[in-house]
Amino acid sequence: AYNLVIHELAHKLDMLNGDANGLPPLHSDMPVQRWANAMQHAFDDLNRQLDRDPEADTPIDPYAAENPAEFFAVTSEYFFSAPDLLHQAYPEVYQQLSLFYRQNPLARLTRLQSEHPDYRHPPA
Ligand SMILES: [Zn+2]
Repeated sequence: AYNLVIHELAHKLDMLNGDANGLPPLHSDMPVQRWANAMQHAFDDLNRQLDRDPEADTPIDPYAAENPAEFFAVTSEYFFSAPDLLHQAYPEVYQQLSLFYRQNPLARLTRLQSEHPDYRHPPA
């Protein structure tokens, strides 16, 4: 349920500047080109993997490959709930989402994991 809230919130943010297309209104200090490059590169990479093998064990949910809007919504879910997986798979996407949401959940997770062993295997 938590992931669904993040997913739908991402779509809402995406639609603040028109159709949901994976490009929400960015902060003024975020170059659109850098966002577009990071997202496009990762989106293409995911689609390449699925084109090769539709059953591929992709690093993030293959639903993200549907279209750029879903890519933004699904990677937003990972950003907040499994930042380590997203950062490992697509570090530039992680960085752009970190600038966009103005948060660094990976640093938070890493700190928790070092201080509390229970956090080392967070539920997916
Ligand atoms: Zn969606």
